[in-house]
Amino acid sequence: MPRRTAATLATSGEVLRLIRSGEAVTRADLGRVTGLSRPAVQLRVGELIERGLVVERADAPSTGGRPPVRLEFNAEGGVVLVAALGASRTRVAVCDLAGRELAGRDFAIDVEQGPDVVLPLLLDTWEEQLGDRPREDVKGVGMGVPATVEFARGRTESVRVMASWTGVLIPPIVRERFPVPVLVDNDVNALAIGEHRGVYPDLDDLMFVKVSTRIGAGVIAGGGILRGALGAAGEIGHIPVRDGGGVLCRCGNVDCVDSVASGTALLRELRAAGKDVKTIADVTALVRAGDAETMATVREAGRRIGEVLAGAVNILNPSVVVLGGDVAEAFGPLVSSIREVVYRRSTALATRRLRIEPSRLGAGAGISGCAVMVLDSVLSPEAVDESLAHDAS
Ligand SMILES: [Zn+2]
Repeated sequence: MPRRTAATLATSGEVLRLIRSGEAVTRADLGRVTGLSRPAVQLRVGELIERGLVVERADAPSTGGRPPVRLEFNAEGGVVLVAALGASRTRVAVCDLAGRELAGRDFAIDVEQGPDVVLPLLLDTWEEQLGDRPREDVKGVGMGVPATVEFARGRTESVRVMASWTGVLIPPIVRERFPVPVLVDNDVNALAIGEHRGVYPDLDDLMFVKVSTRIGAGVIAGGGILRGALGAAGEIGHIPVRDGGGVLCRCGNVDCVDSVASGTALLRELRAAGKDVKTIADVTALVRAGDAETMATVREAGRRIGEVLAGAVNILNPSVVVLGGDVAEAFGPLVSSIREVVYRRSTALATRRLRIEPSRLGAGAGISGCAVMVLDSVLSPEAVDESLAHDAS
């Protein structure tokens, strides 16, 4: 490996990245990987230890000689506050710096009650979960919300779901209570990040499709989440299907896949056919009982979702498409129709190694995705260097 020149000397933030990723576990490793001198390594490691981000662990003595001191990222060196908001369910948690949940609580709350109701509930719950822990331990806040989000500003955009939140800038409200970086993304992006990091860390291209009350997707491309210019990438729910029958979608267009194949659409169609179904659980019961008409409706929804996904697979060429959300999780026939159509309608090259898998983490991917999102940001080399410089001045 070529030695770095003075112009590219590794900073303390980069040293932390190397320790956190396991690429370097001793001071000698750091010297070798970065080309830094021993005193320079010592200075940076000292800063990180003082900050509580790195701890030293003495290995059991080997035969003869002094045992090497291992450097470890200190996951207990702080916490992040996370919340995965859903249309009807919300989970609020405190996680350590490795993204492990230390405390968590579920709420059955309707987000449509608006930010004036929901945000104070989140803030109070975090306060309660933190207990006696010093508030300086809080390094950041990560949230997933069921709406399109202008990511850089944390501004909710959707007028379709969460109408009462439209245009609300969430970060400044949270920062009044917790003055730390606040990241807000849409819920499906959080699920995609969680499932990617937790289940498929070695794959760079993944698409997470949530089929629930509504239909949406989060795209990991080249190892990172694809947000698009303003954060609207992956909004597959409003791509129209062929021969949808002219169903008016809440977005104003006609025959969007969301309007003909979401959980909401399934309930509407089955009710129109005279079935007594109030919730997705009622539909599940009919599927389990082998009701032919219900099975046919569910399969038809799967084909429509598959039609839209086939197009997305052609554009993005993911290695895996993960199907999540309570509708996808409940219905085997839906998943098999999606599979069938995607394999038939996508190009041969795009599907050569394509896997279509059910979500392994389920709703839990939301919380871990929010934690990963905020941790990657506040522990990035740039953010760590900036905060060290800030403390020194
Ligand atoms: Zn639409």
